[in-house]
Amino acid sequence: MSADQHPSFMHSVKRMYDFAVSRTDLPPGIAELLGECRTVYQVRFQVKIQGEYQVFKGWRATHSEHRLPAKGGIRFATAVNQDEVEALAALMTFKCAVVNVPFGGSKGGLCLDPRDYSREDLDSITRHFALELEKKGYLSPALNVPAPDMGTGQREMALMADVYRTLHPEDIDAAACITGKPPEMGGIDGRTEATGRGVQYAMQEFFRHAEDVNAANLPPGLDGKRVVVQGLGNVGYHAAKFLEEEDGCLILGIIERDGGLWSDKGLNVESVFAYLQENGGVKGYPDAEYVADGTSLLEADCDILVPAALESQIHEGNAEKINANLIVEAANGPVTAEADEILRKRGKIIIPDMYANAGGVTVSYFEWTKNLAHMRFGKMGRRFLQSRADSAIDALKQALGDKFPEKMREGFVKEADELNLVRSGLEDTMCEAYQEIREIWHSRDDVPDLRTAAYILAIGRVGHYYTEYAL
Ligand code: GLU
Repeated sequence: MSADQHPSFMHSVKRMYDFAVSRTDLPPGIAELLGECRTVYQVRFQVKIQGEYQVFKGWRATHSEHRLPAKGGIRFATAVNQDEVEALAALMTFKCAVVNVPFGGSKGGLCLDPRDYSREDLDSITRHFALELEKKGYLSPALNVPAPDMGTGQREMALMADVYRTLHPEDIDAAACITGKPPEMGGIDGRTEATGRGVQYAMQEFFRHAEDVNAANLPPGLDGKRVVVQGLGNVGYHAAKFLEEEDGCLILGIIERDGGLWSDKGLNVESVFAYLQENGGVKGYPDAEYVADGTSLLEADCDILVPAALESQIHEGNAEKINANLIVEAANGPVTAEADEILRKRGKIIIPDMYANAGGVTVSYFEWTKNLAHMRFGKMGRRFLQSRADSAIDALKQALGDKFPEKMREGFVKEADELNLVRSGLEDTMCEAYQEIREIWHSRDDVPDLRTAAYILAIGRVGHYYTEYAL
């Protein structure tokens, strides 16, 4: 059975949600409300491409507006449809709630393959889509703030921001209408790496808890762990690179659209990524074995599987054959509800999407607040903190003389620049959220896994608003 023959993505999300919500005391009406999206906007529009009109179809769904703006990415891909966008919007609500980011949940998409268009045509399509979103309030610093997702990046965000700014020159907060912008357009350092970085922080935090690592039947520590990554897009690339270069993981397998690569010694992520950029695929990469049926590597012998591509990649048809003991959902919805049940029965541990890939929206939150503050993080305090660090070093040197451990200097002089502040804010967010989720997992007999625990945490936070404060 292939991934596209499975029950819909929204069906899967709904099933997992129902499982969790039945373990909360949310009133039935509110439980029903949060089981589906609040609004869905579908738009068709025309763009003249190479002298001919072409029609494009896109969506923006909002799952919850309990906090505003509603937040979530915009993807450009041929697999985009209303069901997918609705499922992703629902996951955004829960994702923001899990990491305590004060946004509602939304998601958008345009059904097209960006590789089929020239840069110029894609720019024009992006601007037209932004205009359609703006007309209905789906591009607005106060109401709905998109971000990058599959098939979109800094350039698309910059163009959409420019459309908004052109239409609202009087809005002093115009830059906050979208996140993931390039730095010169009000973006923030560390946003591009943020989702992959968050995946790394999530895994590091998981490995700090011996009880959880035991539950996954793995020996302690990330160092030397054998990892397979599916998808070397923005998220998969950064996660794999950091795990390899900073945590000592062996990236044994990488799965891409045109097949997979395998190396028992571990792949060099940077070099595979460079090859992929240049050749549009991994076939022919010199330092590894090429596997034509790339998805078969999902079942390979490894410790940790990191699906970082599309939804529904692990399904009823292959869940029995997954070898990895730990699955880290860097993608949204890579495991179907049916597969989730099979994997749970097999004792596999899943770090769920709504937590594992929440790094992107967390740093989007930092970007949005930076735009509203109209000041770069660290701008005001950097020199002050620096001179305090210098004074502390001088005092210690005077007291200790030769005994001052020079190694300590690094910790003292680490600059409070934007990138360091963003990374430390993200790390803190990921650690705290994991601790809250695992507390629910371990303290309740009716909560069998981290996903159900994450849902319960999120549903509690969102539900509280609806039961206490909403009309
Ligand atoms: N597209 C990313 C996600 O799915 C980021 C969303 C955002 O930053 O708003 O989480």
